[in-house]
Amino acid sequence: MTTPTTPASGSTEMAPAYTPADVEQRVYEWWESRGLFKPSRPERSGPNAAQPFTIIMPPPNLTGELHLGHALVVSLQDALTRWHRMLGDDTLWLPGVDHAAIAVNAIIERQLAAEKLSRHDVGRDAFLDRTWTFVNSSRARIMEQHRRLGASADWEREAFTMDAAREVAVRQTFKNLYDDGLIYRAERLINWCVDCESAISDIEVEYEDEPGAFWHVRYAIADAEDHPTDANIIIATTRPETIPADTAIAVNPEDPRYAHLIGQHAIVPTNGRVIPIIGDAAVVIDAGTGALKVTPGHDPVDFEIGQRHGLEIISIMNNDGTLNADAGQYEGIERFEARKRVVADLETAGRMEKIDPYTHPVGHCQRSRTIVEPLISLQWWVDAKTLAGPAIEAVKSGQIKFVPPRFERVYEHWMENIRDWCISRQIWWGHRIPVWYCDECDHITVALVTPTACEGCGGAMIRQDEDTLDTWFSSGLWPHSTLGWPEDTDDLKRFYPTQVMETAYDIIFFWVARMIMLSLYNMKDWPGGAIPFDTVYLHGLVRASDGAKMSKSRGNVIDPLEQIGKYGTDGLRFALLSGTSPGNDQRITDDRLEAGRNLSNKLWNASRFVLTLIEDGDDLALPAPSALAAIEDRWILSRLAHVTHEIDALLRRFELAEGLRQARDFFWDEFADWYIELAKVRIRAGDRTPMPVLLHVVDQVLRLLHPFMPFVTEEIWQRVIALRPDADGASALIVARYPKPDALAAYVDDDAERQLVAVQDFVRGIRNIRAEKRVDAGRWVEAYIVAADAQAAATSMLPALEQLARARPLHIVATAADAPSEGVVTTVLSVGQVALPMAGLFDLDAERARLAKQVTEAEGEVERQAAKLGNEQFRSRAPADVVAKEEERLATARGRLDGLRASLAEIG
Ligand SMILES: [Zn+2]
Ligand SMILES: [Zn+2]
Repeated sequence: MTTPTTPASGSTEMAPAYTPADVEQRVYEWWESRGLFKPSRPERSGPNAAQPFTIIMPPPNLTGELHLGHALVVSLQDALTRWHRMLGDDTLWLPGVDHAAIAVNAIIERQLAAEKLSRHDVGRDAFLDRTWTFVNSSRARIMEQHRRLGASADWEREAFTMDAAREVAVRQTFKNLYDDGLIYRAERLINWCVDCESAISDIEVEYEDEPGAFWHVRYAIADAEDHPTDANIIIATTRPETIPADTAIAVNPEDPRYAHLIGQHAIVPTNGRVIPIIGDAAVVIDAGTGALKVTPGHDPVDFEIGQRHGLEIISIMNNDGTLNADAGQYEGIERFEARKRVVADLETAGRMEKIDPYTHPVGHCQRSRTIVEPLISLQWWVDAKTLAGPAIEAVKSGQIKFVPPRFERVYEHWMENIRDWCISRQIWWGHRIPVWYCDECDHITVALVTPTACEGCGGAMIRQDEDTLDTWFSSGLWPHSTLGWPEDTDDLKRFYPTQVMETAYDIIFFWVARMIMLSLYNMKDWPGGAIPFDTVYLHGLVRASDGAKMSKSRGNVIDPLEQIGKYGTDGLRFALLSGTSPGNDQRITDDRLEAGRNLSNKLWNASRFVLTLIEDGDDLALPAPSALAAIEDRWILSRLAHVTHEIDALLRRFELAEGLRQARDFFWDEFADWYIELAKVRIRAGDRTPMPVLLHVVDQVLRLLHPFMPFVTEEIWQRVIALRPDADGASALIVARYPKPDALAAYVDDDAERQLVAVQDFVRGIRNIRAEKRVDAGRWVEAYIVAADAQAAATSMLPALEQLARARPLHIVATAADAPSEGVVTTVLSVGQVALPMAGLFDLDAERARLAKQVTEAEGEVERQAAKLGNEQFRSRAPADVVAKEEERLATARGRLDGLRASLAEIG
């Protein structure tokens, strides 16, 4: 063998076994050092024309360790990227990371808490210094882990949501939206997390059932002088601690119980405040008592009622969840403690009508799991309703497609009901809001570059908003900000719009929807089209083998790096990719991981076998279809053509698991199990014509499998091209051409496939008889094949048939009449028959003796069993199920005896 031009160990040999740890890192570095992850074919027309194919990597969070979800993301996107690169597209997989604002902020706060410090103790600058140190080390580790998974991303283009270029994009977007009136500042009821001490958006709130109660409270009706009368109106509430903030009682004007009270007043029992009783159609007559306490400062429905009736908004809660001075005697008390006190006071005052236990859904912060508090707060908002219009249209018109398509309806429904998006966060880690307030004139300056003076009055007394932006604001710009927007960069021109956005279905609203909205807004005049991508591919979650969600608390988290150590990266990728289907969750099992490792080994061993057979002077050029003589050569190349066609169609439909399965089955079940075995017989007889076919199929299988299992395929392929250089001159499999259906179409040969199927059936038929009759594996048996239409094929492959069936002499005859009918075991197949003379299967005398002995034993068993059941005492005393079991035993023994007698009679 010649020396491979290799990323390999430098050895010309293939080691007897494949060891991923010896190969993966070396091959990865070799690819990267040669720039093979970079897009390389920018021409859009002319002889070298290439279509762009771009995937922007969903930025992994900086917080955690790599988990199997990441490993699936990387495997899927890398498979798509490698496939398109091999199709000859101008392929870019652009990597990046997300700053995960709230999550990272919380980590740093926990670090500080361990030192008995708060962020306010250290101050904003020191806090951010600490955060950057954490982020930089975490970022390096995450990207290193992506390399271990084989990610062929262009690392020189790596983006970070907090780097300088992305900051420009964030500020530009904010300013444009502000200038267009699509970002505004308003005091509204928001979801407040007392743990994160920040506002959070609606979709960051998760609802869970919590046991609670309906406290029925009597509010006195006031007389004309605002004094309490003996008349009461009863309201039912789940949050009595908000009673001090009540500003009205609302009833439905259609409700005959209360209609006459509208216009009168009631008295808040905790503080004696006099509040109006109002009529509002939003009050549900059947809910609770039909009378609603209205607390606009602490409930979203009440807030809207308050807006309609011009009610006062009272906020009684501090940001840390304690009550403030407006709560009167409850000032300084934590919210749930305050609930207990209010209830106790109402009971003491005789104002509690009754308490009904009641379990109801309560909003929790997605991150800290704390119960979320609706609070009135001055925040920045994006007018999502306006932005949603074009984003709905882009999907409805088919410009953007979802895989699987059922998610289009989920998306549209959510977008049609979207509410304005609260984008300001009261934390320090993140993009600081590019807004400056003036102490002199109240003007708000929104700027791209930090201003030194107020835009309104020119005064220098300006200060920047303290808040930062929701993390998803910057990741919403990802498809264009990563390519350099707002600069008019070459990358933007070359790669925007991108093709595929591949992500998990559980972040459609957080991320996919916002990318579509913000991209359509920022890129609305883009000549190549404003949509950020044309396909949204949504993968499912990876679950533990029992179907449970993996979580640290369950202790069932699988560490991908550990699996790589056990099964190799290719083995892990196989396990993940063979189980994935669009939009569906999958379970990861040891069986699939082992199947992945086994496939790596089988590829290595089968290729090694083929390569070692090749001798100097072998003609390795694949013959034209017409020059192929042997049926098995015509068959395997025809099958390769079909499989290539199938895989191409499957990958175009994102059915990666099925494509992988077909490639694997072709390689293993057809090529390795049959073709190599058939070819061996010819080669042993001195026939060298199988060599180019063997080498060609190995080469094509490596190409077909490369996107899924990049390392083992590249390592082997380097040896293949050392023997037969690539037709297109590629020196690495990663940039070699993927098998094209058209190129192989001429090799489709239905006749050869039919004949080979018949040959396989003959061999299997003989093997089955041997197994059934327990013929020694090494024993040669005489056999007849009634070949019918496949006579020519069987005859041409006689030596191989003899070997594979271990049958000699092997008679190939045309009709059943040409085979003996006495003293043979026969199996009828769809393509013909096989018949094995009994005398050849074993030593008849010894077999007769063995069977006779077994017949005697079986007779004894039947007798004993019959005697037991004939015993009246046993039958009357034993429980019915025991008797039934014994009867079954007798029936089994009789069946066995009959079988043995028949076998004995058969050999005479
Ligand atoms: Zn929280
Ligand atoms: Zn000013």
